[in-house]
Amino acid sequence: MNLSLVPRPVRVRFAPSPTGTLHIGSARTALYNYLYARHQEGSFILRIEDTDAARSTSAFEQSILKDLAWLGLDWDEGPDRGGDCGPYRQSERVQAGIYSQAAGRLLDERKAYRCFCSQERLEQLKQECLDRGEMPKYDRRCAGLSPDEAQAKLAAGEPATIRFRVPETEIVVNDLIHGHTKFSSDVLGDFIIIRSDGGVAYNFAVVVDDIQMAISHVIRGEDHLTNTARQLLVFRALGQEPPVYAHHSLILGPDGGKLSKRHGATSVGEFRQAGYLPEAIINYLALLSWKPSGDQENLSRSEMVRDFEIYRVSRSPAIFDIQKLNWLNGLHIRDLDREAFHAAIGPFRNQAAAGATGAQLAVAEKAIQTSLVTLAETEARLKEFFDDYNIEAAEDFAELLEPQSLRVLELAVAELAGLSTDQGFAVTEVEPQIAAARELVARLKLKCREGQIPAKRMYRTLRIALTGRSSGPELPFLLAGLARDTVRLRLTRAHSYIAARLAEKTEPGG
Ligand code: GLU
Repeated sequence: MNLSLVPRPVRVRFAPSPTGTLHIGSARTALYNYLYARHQEGSFILRIEDTDAARSTSAFEQSILKDLAWLGLDWDEGPDRGGDCGPYRQSERVQAGIYSQAAGRLLDERKAYRCFCSQERLEQLKQECLDRGEMPKYDRRCAGLSPDEAQAKLAAGEPATIRFRVPETEIVVNDLIHGHTKFSSDVLGDFIIIRSDGGVAYNFAVVVDDIQMAISHVIRGEDHLTNTARQLLVFRALGQEPPVYAHHSLILGPDGGKLSKRHGATSVGEFRQAGYLPEAIINYLALLSWKPSGDQENLSRSEMVRDFEIYRVSRSPAIFDIQKLNWLNGLHIRDLDREAFHAAIGPFRNQAAAGATGAQLAVAEKAIQTSLVTLAETEARLKEFFDDYNIEAAEDFAELLEPQSLRVLELAVAELAGLSTDQGFAVTEVEPQIAAARELVARLKLKCREGQIPAKRMYRTLRIALTGRSSGPELPFLLAGLARDTVRLRLTRAHSYIAARLAEKTEPGG
């Protein structure tokens, strides 16, 4: 029986370097790993690759964990929650001697060697290669040193790196997204696996970790494809089966360049602050390269988990399209229940509804939920709802300066006169209150029709009289959500204003 054909338990990892906040492209890598793990009922592991001590900070690590948690990409093992394959921070794994032990094995087996070349020599070598129009490659000066010679140099205090001895071979990366990609080891050159200060190089640490963490599938950006060639050689040297690879395309801006600051927001935190829901972000990021089996694009997390297959991930470049993200964000906003929507807009409400009762706010929130594109519009939209406006300055008001609008306002005021001014109602009564306002609007519409006034005139007049604008919340929401006194006041004020302007117009010489 060929053991390598026995399917291994699915274990995937997301391995960010905490040298910045979580980029939207990295979030997509995390998402594909998460979806794959959950679909396959495997494990999703978080590994922190913080070997670049100068650039890594624990503040960045914290912010990455926070953003992943906000996106709902919960991991099974990681630096904060442990697991059987820890530690999950590479810096701690350096301390534990994990990499030096693995490198020691390669040295013993002569699959790696110590290199004593100075930085100056290496720089010069690189320049010579470039001058000849060749890819820089180490010339193997130290590859022939015997273990004794190397020991003597070490004992004399000479600094040394450890280099991987690249065998002459063809390397085939068998990738679930890219298919077979061939590399010749010839171009790679013997690469450093342990630096002279004892630090570990990325291509070595990753392999040692992927082995010890029993990673079955590596899903990451295609910028790592050439690293994979080196990593496969290290797997082979350590006598281990490599995981299965899947390199997804990178996210590009609309101009075809790598997505960067000049295209707008790039980090998950920036999208959060701009009012995007995590549900919309992950839905959008998944669709950037993955094609669901059905036609529906507005998908929940569990629907994506159920449907996610790597073979449906395309290798074409993923062009970032903010319009599509906006569209999905709107759909996911509409999908939130009342409590979830209330909580989601909390950070964006500010003082916009300061004087409103809980029930009035609930009506207004219901009204704006139907049309928000991002949560960041909340404050302005609630202000449109609750704040008073200046008739003189309200642009849309000009269209009301005609007799039919006067008549609409009279009918509305008369209809309201029958209602009590006591409008205290509970949050649980929001629906009946809106239903009552709808009935009121229907009665008014009937009255207008009797008076030959088109419905459109009625809607526009009342909305402009209540808010100063012809577009905005649906009329029944305004009638239910604004205090009844406020409604009366704004309608009668509009009436007096229009009446006065019309009188001026008709006065001779006026
Ligand atoms: N730390 C690497 C990065 O942030 C991850 C590489 C990998 O997934 O192997 O790009």
